Amino acid sequence: MLNVTQNKITIPMLDLKAQHEPLKEEIKQALKDILDSGHFILGPNVKSFEQEIASYYHVGNAVALASGTDALYLCLKALNVKQGDEVITTPFTFIATAEAIAYVNATPVFVDVEKYTMNVDASKIEEKITAKTKVIIVVHLFGQPADMDRIMELARKYDLRVIEDCAQSFGARYKGSATGSIGDAGCFSFYPSKNLGAYGDGGMLITDRQDIYDKAKLLRNHGTVAPYRHGFIGHNSRLDEIQAAILRIKLRHIDEYNQNRRDLARIYSALLGNAVQCPVELPDRTHVYHQYTIRTPLREKVSRVLKDNNISSVVYYPVPLHMQEAFDYLGYKKGDLPESEAAAEEVLSIPVYPELEPEKAEFIAEVILKAVKE
Ligand SMILES: *Cc1c(COP(=O)(O)O)cnc(C)c1O
Repeated sequence: MLNVTQNKITIPMLDLKAQHEPLKEEIKQALKDILDSGHFILGPNVKSFEQEIASYYHVGNAVALASGTDALYLCLKALNVKQGDEVITTPFTFIATAEAIAYVNATPVFVDVEKYTMNVDASKIEEKITAKTKVIIVVHLFGQPADMDRIMELARKYDLRVIEDCAQSFGARYKGSATGSIGDAGCFSFYPSKNLGAYGDGGMLITDRQDIYDKAKLLRNHGTVAPYRHGFIGHNSRLDEIQAAILRIKLRHIDEYNQNRRDLARIYSALLGNAVQCPVELPDRTHVYHQYTIRTPLREKVSRVLKDNNISSVVYYPVPLHMQEAFDYLGYKKGDLPESEAAAEEVLSIPVYPELEPEKAEFIAEVILKAVKE
């Protein structure tokens, strides 16, 4: 039995140094090769990484971009979403999901979430569909796949496009299909803290649709249709060779990283039981635990006791998007999306990263149990 008051271990939310350690010689060599080659932008590593991602996802096309935010933004642009259009999404996500909608001057329309998955509630989407609705952006929050069958069914019924925001769900599966390969396009972030993280910013768009791919590929590089010929106004949104090389090395380990996260989640869920609301494992869905997020009305106490024991925890997310100042102009008010608001009051994410030792997860669970029972 660990004495929670005497232990002085420090457990962070994430340990990127520990992840780097076993890869460092291989990464050093890859970086040396790039430095020696002098080829830094749109070179062989980006091309190979795109092919490796397309093959991992069994999709036709992958285009590497500067960030996950850009992947969403350029995807909306490739779909010609513009002012006057409406895009349905969840308010319980990182702001980038809805920022991308604002960038194309379209209107985000927030649909409340389910209590147990905290993903968009598919049964509440239909009532928000209007003649202006063009796209649904689905977020697989914390690594838990959203209810894709119902969402794809609505998309077919109303002729809507579906973009999957997979920034938190690399490797998650829904009924045998990888998240990101189910809708019209999947958008990924390689921000360092994501399940597949670069050593800087990075993103990816995957799609089976040739038109989205062709447009996104031109958009990322100034609309360049031929050397110094620009078909339209584009952007500078390229993943660089150094990040692509690092990501290619880490991609070989992603399934093992995700399995470690799932093993830790099993430990947490077994020990925490009903003392707090644990993440659900729905049949036919493989959760990859980008975050292990509990819910408890005793959140303040739990996070304080964790801190007293040198254990990190973070509230993702304290304010749902419809209540953010940045989206004041949309005119939502408190009470409009009660499940999202309730989630924001109760969620607490605790350490879950591939290098976390199982004994430490057990210790964290003990501390939480003690905090809720005291
Ligand atoms: C991280 C994240 C993004 C944005 O990715 P960046 O690469 O940081 O631009 C978008 N959506 C969600 C849900 C995220 O978690």
